[in-house]
Amino acid sequence: GTGARAVYWNRRYEPAVQARDKTIEAALVDQGIEVRSFNAALLFEPWEVKRGNGGPYRVFTPYSKTCLARDMPPPMQAPPGRLPAIRGPASLALEELGLLPSRPWYRGFASTWSPGENGAWRQLERFIDTALGDYPAGRDRLDSSGTSRLSAHLHFGEVGPRQIWQALEQVRLHDPQAGRLAAVEAFQRQLLWREFAHHLLHYFPATPEEPLHARYQEFPWREDPDGLNAWQSGRTGIPLVDAGMRELWATGFMHNRARMVAASFLTKNLGLHWLHGARWFWDTLVDADLANNTLGWQWAAGCGADAAPYFRIFNPVRQGERFDPEGAYVRRWVPELARLPNRYIHRPWDTPPGLLVNARLVPGNDYPLPVVDLDTSRKQALERYADWKRRAGSPDRQPPGRQETGGGR
Ligand code: FAD
Repeated sequence: GTGARAVYWNRRYEPAVQARDKTIEAALVDQGIEVRSFNAALLFEPWEVKRGNGGPYRVFTPYSKTCLARDMPPPMQAPPGRLPAIRGPASLALEELGLLPSRPWYRGFASTWSPGENGAWRQLERFIDTALGDYPAGRDRLDSSGTSRLSAHLHFGEVGPRQIWQALEQVRLHDPQAGRLAAVEAFQRQLLWREFAHHLLHYFPATPEEPLHARYQEFPWREDPDGLNAWQSGRTGIPLVDAGMRELWATGFMHNRARMVAASFLTKNLGLHWLHGARWFWDTLVDADLANNTLGWQWAAGCGADAAPYFRIFNPVRQGERFDPEGAYVRRWVPELARLPNRYIHRPWDTPPGLLVNARLVPGNDYPLPVVDLDTSRKQALERYADWKRRAGSPDRQPPGRQETGGGR
């Protein structure tokens, strides 16, 4: 044994992990070992933020207002200068665990990620120095590095939200121009979405598998294994969707705007159950996080907290023209389209034949034809929704409206 008299750890919030930690805690207490756990992963414990009636929030804005009205957690203590290594029972070497898969599909990860605390802090500094100032607009741009890329570091606890919050407060203090403040607040808001996701997972622990709004249990999702396969492998024939899915496969990351567009395409245009998407993201994202992934997918499918209503359907062409106007993101991840002019990069099916020759592109051969027509599949999605609504008497907020180009977040 190690002779340990006490075990301290930081709390985690996924239901299965909480159950595991409870079992470990009970076993340690049985052996007379002192046990203490702490919050390092969140600004607030999920149960600390409550509505006036004591219940949980299901809508983000009032949740975030309540958070902002509270005192932010106090500054952290400095880390100990020295932590002596534990002399304990013999352990296996890391390699002996054989954790790496036999097919090296993760090769692209090394150039994308710098795991560990140093990597996390470098990333935070890079973001504050180079991208924070333009974050409110830059965060949506697919063709530049406008976001922090801290999600995986946050997930693995290599940097904590309180540390980030304090670094931002320093910016606010030392550089109080109005634009800078707006950027700090916009970024803090994203950290609060992460808090909100954990709040929801805590109060609604079944949501990784079940819709938050029970009436969506009966929603008539389609089955389409070929469509799912095309989506997973980045071969739907819709450039922005394919670029996102290929970025995901190559790097274990996908830009937030691409996540929203790819999720909307899967659940609306293809009409597939959001769980297919959530499971694929879970298996392939380096930042896969039960709370954030569940919130993201239920939001996209329209069945979750503060969700985009079902009839909001992203148009991947317009999203591309708006957030990747020169097609740099598509050219990078879908190189077979790289020679298309900007005008057609997001809709290769409209390219005049002469330009196709110049671009050395044979649609259906070099790059797939769209697996579904965007307009037709959008109309079918709206019909599915209207049918279901009639049957279920669903009380969604507005009647089916215009195609959405913006996106709620
Ligand atoms: P930044 O814009 O720099 O944001 C800073 C931090 O705020 C992020 O690191 C993240 O911790 C948090 N954050 C930002 N946006 C959100 C959001 N919408 N919801 C919750 N927290 C947010 N995020 C994950 O961390 N893991 C997931 O598994 C995950 N799955 C998603 C699935 C779908 C369908 C969608 C639409 C979104 C998902 N997100 C997920 C949220 C978001 O896309 C990522 O957190 C973000 O793209 C990470 O990049 P970043 O660190 O550069 O973000």
